[in-house]
Amino acid sequence: MPLVVQKYGGSSVSDAEAIQRVARRIVETKRAGNDVVVAVSAMGDTTDELLDLANAVTSDAAPREMDILLTAGERISMALLAMAIRELGVGAQAFTGPQAGVITTEHHGRARIIDVAPGRLQKAVADGDVAIVAGFQGLHPETQDVTTLGRGGSDTTAVALAAALNADVCEIYTDVDGVFTADPRIVPSARKLDRVSYDEMLDLAASGAKVLMPRCVEYARRFDVPIHVRSSFSGLEGTWVTGDTAEGEDMEDPIIAGVAHDRSEAKITVIGVPDVPGSAARLFEAVATSDVNIDMIVQNVSATVTGVTDISFTLPADSVPRATKAIEADRDGIGYADLTTDDTIGKISLVGAGMRSNSGVSAKFFTALRDAGINIEMITTSDIRISVVTRAEKLDEAVRAVHSAFDLDSNDGDAVVYGGTGR
Ligand code: ADP
Ligand code: ASP
Ligand code: MG
Repeated sequence: MPLVVQKYGGSSVSDAEAIQRVARRIVETKRAGNDVVVAVSAMGDTTDELLDLANAVTSDAAPREMDILLTAGERISMALLAMAIRELGVGAQAFTGPQAGVITTEHHGRARIIDVAPGRLQKAVADGDVAIVAGFQGLHPETQDVTTLGRGGSDTTAVALAAALNADVCEIYTDVDGVFTADPRIVPSARKLDRVSYDEMLDLAASGAKVLMPRCVEYARRFDVPIHVRSSFSGLEGTWVTGDTAEGEDMEDPIIAGVAHDRSEAKITVIGVPDVPGSAARLFEAVATSDVNIDMIVQNVSATVTGVTDISFTLPADSVPRATKAIEADRDGIGYADLTTDDTIGKISLVGAGMRSNSGVSAKFFTALRDAGINIEMITTSDIRISVVTRAEKLDEAVRAVHSAFDLDSNDGDAVVYGGTGR
């Protein structure tokens, strides 16, 4: 019997009625002759609300307790979904991440799945039941503590389950009809992609297209799990995320897959760093001790008179306190004069495998931004991506300008956003 893993995001299970609607969809899949395992997210904006609650009682929550708190969201939805399915006459068993055999590293808030021991899920399926798994969570075996996988982590739970169970497909159900050429909340005329490669999807996701978590795409690429991103609110075919098609097989492949944007980063500028070999190493060693992931780096031209330079880099905004603390702790060693932070930046990225073999893509990208009067503060490129930092308030305008310059608009009318608050 085919095995389907389905993941339902928060907006698909935002209230009792939505949970019943999802239950009907699961039951239909089961009655069509499939075994079904489901990963489910917390209802609506529950995770954000739990974070707000924690921040209301402390400014320095212990990561272990934070994970205990946040995993409660998915426990609620998994239990209710199992109840709703049973109400429709189909057996269902709910499992927390640890009960489902999801084993992770110890890093609270950003744990990585290292293994899935799916015995209990296989038994539930063999019993003819639907297995419902709480997404976004797992167990660190040494501490026996529950961990979370980072925001959007239920996507990764679903792909990890699909890989461990050797599922035929991993369906990611969300509040839009698939992966679009830009976030439909910003560009309503964005076009749905029928297919996108793992590599392009990974760059889109890592550049802020939150429809899939980057780690889930990495996992799918590694274990060759086909992902079908689609809406839980419509019956439409969505977007297939799969390996590259063989060279020349898909001549219609567009040059550009899409435009992504990210508002979640901040910029740190370290002013007056001595322009001598080893300065950058010392600075970034300090940052590395704080376990922060750096994205873009720019070093200004140094003034020969003074022999000092400024170094700016971007990082997730919520890592700023940790990074600045680490840099300030080595102030004398690095020898810089001052440090500033700026959380009003936005990043826009253009992604497409066709960039490799097409010249002129960057020129068109920069021209589009210039014509829209948007100033560029930082630039990075890879063989399939160009990213720039702009002012946050200019970001939406930048996305629309680039999207239209590359003729990415749909011919079939505006994209539908079925639910969610965009939070
Ligand atoms: P879920 O709750 O189902 O996990 P998310 O909010 O995490 O949903 O992801 C879906 C949202 O991702 C969409 O509502 C959309 O606003 C946003 N998004 C950003 N970029 C894209 C894109 N390129 N294609 C589709 N959706 C996108
Ligand atoms: N509930 C978690 C979050 O909001 C995980 C997820 O939805 O994928 O990030
Ligand atoms: Mg999500």
